[in-house]
Amino acid sequence: MELELEMEKVQVLIIGSGPAGYTAAIYASRAGLKPVLYQGGQPGGQLTITNDVENYPGYPDGVIGPQMMMDFQKQAERFGTDIRYGLVTATDFSSYPLKATVDEKHEIEAEAVIISTGASAKWLGLPSEEKFNGKGVSACAVCDGFFFKGQDVVIVGAGDTAAEEATYLSKLANKVYMLVRRDEMRASKIMQHRVKNTANIEILWNTDTVEIEGNDTVESVRVKNNQTGEERVLEAQGFFVAIGHKPNTDIFKGQLDLDESGYIKTIPGSSKTNIEGVFATGDAQDHIYRQAVTAAGSGCMGALDAERFLAAKEVELVD
Ligand code: NDP
Repeated sequence: MELELEMEKVQVLIIGSGPAGYTAAIYASRAGLKPVLYQGGQPGGQLTITNDVENYPGYPDGVIGPQMMMDFQKQAERFGTDIRYGLVTATDFSSYPLKATVDEKHEIEAEAVIISTGASAKWLGLPSEEKFNGKGVSACAVCDGFFFKGQDVVIVGAGDTAAEEATYLSKLANKVYMLVRRDEMRASKIMQHRVKNTANIEILWNTDTVEIEGNDTVESVRVKNNQTGEERVLEAQGFFVAIGHKPNTDIFKGQLDLDESGYIKTIPGSSKTNIEGVFATGDAQDHIYRQAVTAAGSGCMGALDAERFLAAKEVELVD
């Protein structure tokens, strides 16, 4: 037990194993920084719950999400990243070196920390939503909309994401039903205007999802008007949930500057946070693009920023 409490010193600690974390690992290990990467509760991140990924450059025939993340991991391992299964449960950035606790017991001291903890899509919580996940149910229209070309789809949500994704889907699908739980939308006026003026989007106000139905894949969606109680069955092959994302940043509260939704604030054009030596990458700091390729790009930025930071520290020590 005592051994577990011993402090381990590492040069670069990477928290998270999505495209951002693994890309940071590839760059940091190739730069000789001997990174240690903790995979977190969902090794491989959000892409492990996606089927085909067709928009990641370099895979002309597409690739399934879990395979892609295994490829990322292999590439990071090839250059010597120490990849470990474990969840960072606490951090202490109040002094330098930076500190992190893994699985509530293993203490780590790091010269630089790259945060790539991602975000999680919010779900309605219906059992059928889980049953059909990847079989017609998706939380990413840009990733999966293409598979519903010419078909009918349902999207839930009334914020900017839902409005944007409904518009995106309307260009691919035959018909888009948009379920709004109130009698108004939260989305910005311009986004609402676009949705309301798109011929093949039908907005169902005051409407909740009762159940997603089908055999192996989604075939229809049972909905209910929450004012009248009236139920209706919508024939649809796709069901998109766009009710928001939650960045996985709870452990950094009170230490890093976060925006009102919990996303880590970075200095524009960099991965730098308000704490020296702590860099934020991927969806934990990006609520706008949220793509595998943009997360990977920002992971690269995190590693390069960490490398420069450590090089400058070394000069400081010599001086
Ligand atoms: P939001 O939190 O803004 O909106 C979530 C929406 O989902 C709300 O309309 C909410 O309804 C609805 N909702 C939540 N839970 C449920 C539920 N259980 N059942 C049905 N509906 C539900 O999230 P977004 O992802 O849309 O946006 C996040 C942030 O990102 C915002 O600040 C947004 O402006 C920004 N953004 C900007 C974009 C742009 O500028 N291009 C594009 C995308 C996002 P209710 O309103 O009733 O609470």
